[in-house]
Amino acid sequence: MAGKIKSETSAKPKTPKMSASATTSGACLCGVVEVAIKVPVFWAWHDHSASTRLAHGSAYATYVGCWRSNVRIVRGEGLLSRFADTERGHVRTFCSRCGSPVMFERGRSPKMVNLPRALFAGRTGRESKYHVAIDEIRDWAYLGAPVVPLKGYPGVAVEKGKRVVRQPSAKGLFEP
Ligand SMILES: [Zn+2]
Repeated sequence: MAGKIKSETSAKPKTPKMSASATTSGACLCGVVEVAIKVPVFWAWHDHSASTRLAHGSAYATYVGCWRSNVRIVRGEGLLSRFADTERGHVRTFCSRCGSPVMFERGRSPKMVNLPRALFAGRTGRESKYHVAIDEIRDWAYLGAPVVPLKGYPGVAVEKGKRVVRQPSAKGLFEP
């Protein structure tokens, strides 16, 4: 019986349409905020934009994009804080207790809600193979170069060989 679709014996008129068998839940760092989304999500993407880089304090963020109707705050709604980025028309929601980003709404896509992929330990049903603002990627972002353990520092690894630094004058290669 576990994992099977529940029969709607106690169906109420305003019960959310989300089926328990087709959802996954995620939580913020401190765990007080829990969200549930319907899976598979609409899409999954990496955001390299400067605003997301600052909002997350990381090189880029990976999101799962969902229809708004497929997202539900299970608990902790009262602890959510919002930042309205009026310059860009975005709203970013985060846990006021631990600071974890929880939702990212873009003004140009009012029917979609984006949630950090990292909130979800389980599968979300889409590969994150799309990139937004790839031209804004930083040259210090880790791109998967091979690493080896750093001797004397357990848990620390270092990239092998020399890092190739992009030269700003490279356009000269394509001009006469
Ligand atoms: Zn939290």
